[in-house]
Amino acid sequence: MPELPEVETVRRGLAPVMEGARFTKVIAHRGDLRWPLAPDFVARLEGKRVEGLGRRAKYLLADLSSGDVLVMHLGMSGSFRVARSGGKTTPGRYYHERSKNAAHDHVVFHMSSGARIAFNDPRRFGMMKHQKVVAGLGNIYVCEALHRARLSPKRRASTIATKAGAPHERAQRLVDAIKAVLADAIAAGGSSLRDHRRTDGELGDFQHDFRVYDREGKRCSTPGCKGTIRRMVQTGRSTFFCPVCQR
Ligand SMILES: [Zn+2]
Repeated sequence: MPELPEVETVRRGLAPVMEGARFTKVIAHRGDLRWPLAPDFVARLEGKRVEGLGRRAKYLLADLSSGDVLVMHLGMSGSFRVARSGGKTTPGRYYHERSKNAAHDHVVFHMSSGARIAFNDPRRFGMMKHQKVVAGLGNIYVCEALHRARLSPKRRASTIATKAGAPHERAQRLVDAIKAVLADAIAAGGSSLRDHRRTDGELGDFQHDFRVYDREGKRCSTPGCKGTIRRMVQTGRSTFFCPVCQR
């Protein structure tokens, strides 16, 4: 099984041909890697740009221009083969020889950088899936941060600054709350991504810590508050808040 340093060298090998490039064509040969590829797997990649290629533990995470994150894992026997005008390379340094048998090329990316990237995995323990992390969590972060800062989502943004334009104490409260929410989400997301069994849970452990999001009708968790969480729709998105302690 590829170890952490190998996965990191794979990332460094793929980054130059993937980052800033669009998927011009994606071919998925098999729907049965570790988890089946989603029916919309190809559609969610083609035409999208890779904003950055990161790594968390042994997972490669491609941030897409759509807000999706493409999660890739090499499993036991997976590797990438990169073909471009300069020749062919297999990023990563492996103890065991990697398969070059095209019959095991399960997914092929054609990138606007001119590179053709084949994901080869004879034992099919590798995985690729989308995680709607950025777009999905954005709204959650906002709801959770506003609740921790005890600020109403109905409040006009201008009211967190003084008339002279200086930040009000409420602004600092909100900044602190956003930092706390992000830190919790990163900590929870990290632990869930390290655990194979939980990669299906889009939000990892963080969802167990929601104070308002998706808790309509439930009791507010602020100590001493007897409020009930309400939901309203703002600019097409559901916003959850406590009308009692968020002012
Ligand atoms: Zn409350």
